[in-house]
Amino acid sequence: MNSEIIVVGSFEVNCVVIWDDPKLAWVIDPGADPDAIMGFLKRHDLEVGLYFLTHGHIDHISALDGVLAKHPAPVHLHSGDVAWAFSNLNRFPPYNRVPQRPATLQPTSTPAERLAVGGVTAEIIETPGHSPGGQCLWFKDGDLLISGDTLFASSVGRTDLPGGSGRVLQESLRRLTKLPEQTLVIPGHGPTTTIGDEKRHNPYIS
Ligand SMILES: [Zn+2]
Ligand SMILES: [Zn+2]
Repeated sequence: MNSEIIVVGSFEVNCVVIWDDPKLAWVIDPGADPDAIMGFLKRHDLEVGLYFLTHGHIDHISALDGVLAKHPAPVHLHSGDVAWAFSNLNRFPPYNRVPQRPATLQPTSTPAERLAVGGVTAEIIETPGHSPGGQCLWFKDGDLLISGDTLFASSVGRTDLPGGSGRVLQESLRRLTKLPEQTLVIPGHGPTTTIGDEKRHNPYIS
């Protein structure tokens, strides 16, 4: 399983591309710079098998419709964020534009749903708190967690935005700290870390 980070946009979001053989990619959080994302796909001869949005905030979804137009595939976003993610409530001018609601949107809502595309499988872990529909992707076989804005290296997502909750975020973090310590964590912003390092050093995890 290959995983590559493309840092996109003024908020420096970690857009992650994951693939194996066949070359059908998971594109996670296409937050900005559609040309950079599509250039990466072309260089690696990849088609898109699915899009996964860790949550609906504009810095994580702004390039979605640009990439989707050339590479159609199902889009997974938690139902808790669907209502506002493609509306003007999500505007943050002048940095990001709101993408159109995709025709291929498949809202996820059941806990521990499993996704399988291109020979790669992952489990969805619901992690509300930073936003109502926060969700992480756990690639158990690849020892990899995509943590969105729920967990960062030595920090956690802010909870003062609409629909956020510090108490709910703590419950979500407890779910993540049950994962194996060697699990590599790619957060929505900033450097990678591991579950073990965060359990030992993150001041927001009790
Ligand atoms: Zn966010
Ligand atoms: Zn973010």
